[in-house]
Order: sequence, then structure tokens, then C-alpha cells
Amino acid sequence: MNTTALREYKRKRNFSRTAQPRGGPVPARAGFSFVIQKHAARRLHYDFRLELDGVLLSWAVPKGPSLDPGVKRLAMQTEDHPIEYGTFEGTIPKGEYGGGTVAVWDNGTWVPEGDPREGMRRGRLTFNLEGKRLRGSWHLVRTRGPAGRGRDSKNAWLLFKGTDEEARPGSDSAIVDENKTSAVTGRSLEQIAGDP
Ligand code: MN
Repeated sequence: MNTTALREYKRKRNFSRTAQPRGGPVPARAGFSFVIQKHAARRLHYDFRLELDGVLLSWAVPKGPSLDPGVKRLAMQTEDHPIEYGTFEGTIPKGEYGGGTVAVWDNGTWVPEGDPREGMRRGRLTFNLEGKRLRGSWHLVRTRGPAGRGRDSKNAWLLFKGTDEEARPGSDSAIVDENKTSAVTGRSLEQIAGDP
């Protein structure tokens, strides 16, 4: 059991004020779930999370995924989240960390190519997604990050689609533009916000 994995997650949140999961002891199991949460915080973004060693590795993707293999999306790595976070849909109170509405935009399983721990060390993950909206091969590659981001630059990765039959060259943002609701409950962000 890894008791320090979620320290940053817990430090950032006041669980007497937000309904986000507290995160219990990190379970020692080897599951490979993934979730993408659409998060209307101060700025809308998509939180891309891959389960590994009992936590959800997490990246914030401002523009969301693209099915165009030529479109590389900035993905800023954020703190690991508890597994239970993968089903969280609701509203984080204004003024709290990440305040705003969260919808589960996609979920399913991921299948890493090679050893994903080594991939995280090297900054290069290749994997298949078996989700409701995203399928086929994907890449996450650590990059130098945008100029002027200072110390954040070490957290900058690029998320992009691998070339396969699930790719849609030239589609740019179509996958997020055409799918605005929760993949689990079908609700819009507005409906989730109005239904605490
Ligand atoms: Mn977020």
C-alpha cells in the first residue's frame, strides 16, 4: 500500500467543503481503468486519467482530445487522484480548489504497450483506449512545454492519436464538439450543475 501517493491531492482539498472523494488507502491492485472528465473550472479543460498502481495518473488537457493524429494537445500533468475519483460527477464549490462542474466525458479501460512505469520515467506512453468515445492507439509524450511557463514546463506532455482505423485525420476538435454531455448519465454540464 502506498500511503504517500495521494498527499498532494489531499493537501489541495478541504473535504468538509467539497463532495470530491477523500481517497482512502491506495489499493494494491493492478487495474487499468481510464476516465476523462470534462471540467468547467475557471477555464474549461478535460482531465485525462489513467489508472496505474492504485491511483489515477492525471493530466489536464485544455482543448481536449483530437482524433486527428496530426493534432498534438498540450496535457499538463497534475497530482495523482484516487481511484474513486473516476466516477465523480458533480460540482466543486466555487472558491474551492478546481471549483466548477465535472462530467465524466469518457471511461473504459486502457492497455499500455510495454511497461507503463518505465514509460512514465522516460516520458513516453503508448497505449490503446477502449472507451465509449475514444478507441484505438494513443500517445502521451513529455515535452519541454510552452515557453514562459517556468517550473510548470516539466509537467508538460503532448496527447495525440495514433494512426489507425479509429483516427479521423482533419477532424480537429470534432470529437469534443460533437460530444458535449456525460458519457455515463447523458447530462449536460448545466444539468449537472443544477442537480447537486
Ligand atoms: Mn480539472
